[in-house]
Amino acid sequence: MNTENTPEIDIIKASQSKISQVDFDNLTFGNTFTDHMLVCDFKEGQWQKPVIKPYEPFLIDPSAKVFHYGQAIFEGMKAYRDANNQVWLFRPDQNMDRFNKSATRLAMPEVPKDIFIGGLKQLVALEEQWVKGGKGNSLYIRPFMIAVGSGVIAQPSTQYRFMIILSPAKSYYSGEVKVIIAEHYSRAANGGIGAAKAAGNYSAQFYPTKLANEQGFQQIIWTDDATHTKLEEAGTMNVFFRINDTLITAPTSERILDGVTRKSLLDIAQKEGIQVDVRSLTVDELVKAAQDGSLKEMFGAGTAAVVSPIKGFQYQEHYYELTPQDQPMALFLKEKLTNIQYKLEDDPFGWTVHV
Ligand SMILES: *Cc1c(COP(=O)(O)O)cnc(C)c1O
Repeated sequence: MNTENTPEIDIIKASQSKISQVDFDNLTFGNTFTDHMLVCDFKEGQWQKPVIKPYEPFLIDPSAKVFHYGQAIFEGMKAYRDANNQVWLFRPDQNMDRFNKSATRLAMPEVPKDIFIGGLKQLVALEEQWVKGGKGNSLYIRPFMIAVGSGVIAQPSTQYRFMIILSPAKSYYSGEVKVIIAEHYSRAANGGIGAAKAAGNYSAQFYPTKLANEQGFQQIIWTDDATHTKLEEAGTMNVFFRINDTLITAPTSERILDGVTRKSLLDIAQKEGIQVDVRSLTVDELVKAAQDGSLKEMFGAGTAAVVSPIKGFQYQEHYYELTPQDQPMALFLKEKLTNIQYKLEDDPFGWTVHV
């Protein structure tokens, strides 16, 4: 399985660890970083030797293309510690493949497997004491790449920096969120970069989300840009609907991010005998299902929160509240998925990778 060669990596160790200063019971998501980071530069048409070094700020030229033209992509994944004290990654190949698709779409170079997976494993192994045991605890992994070449001419950069930073995380429960269905703004469009995990997709989403927050909604359900009639994603998560006992989610497309959580939940649901329907659900169908009571659940799915239940949605000035379920499918699927990630249940799919 693990065919990547371990790359030669220079390791410069931090003189002192910050770990004793970290309050692991009170972590806010994504604010605390481990002692080391991985850095690998691309220049003169090739990837240079990766280095693992102390986590610290770095200098880039003010004319670097990332600041002006937004060549920036990232990934989000996690490492977990099981009851036998072993540390595991979850489907890291999926994140690498998606990262390299994002890179291609933004005219950036692909990162070879020995650097992405090999470097990641070495970094996580070095920081393994930051991966706390117990279900819900994890080490959030943020690989990213930016264009560091200087010059404001509007062309792809010839120099890039690939980095991996790590942040200890606790499971977080977002609470049951209220969402509003997008009728004007769009997250993505056909032919655009919606299927890439590009920084620009997030910045474009902040303003409409801020407007939604001001109206009392935590997230936006994105619809297709052309007609605003098809339901596509929930904020920065994929979105699922349960109508009667059928689980529905949109097929991936140029406008939808191919989420690892989404595809894993679909596989688990199928294995558990849940009726799954991968198709576009329309806003009209959703409203009708809410009115006749067949809409049982809605939830977002993504690495950070795993599943995020939605308690109601607003559409055209009407708010539709869902009836709470005794045995939510969202929580059943979350339990199954996290049991695989924490090695509490067999992993029949071969998704977990030992560090
Ligand atoms: C990252 C992301 C997701 C979730 O992907 P996972 O691989 O499950 O974490 C869904 N939608 C968007 C827009 C995303 O950026």
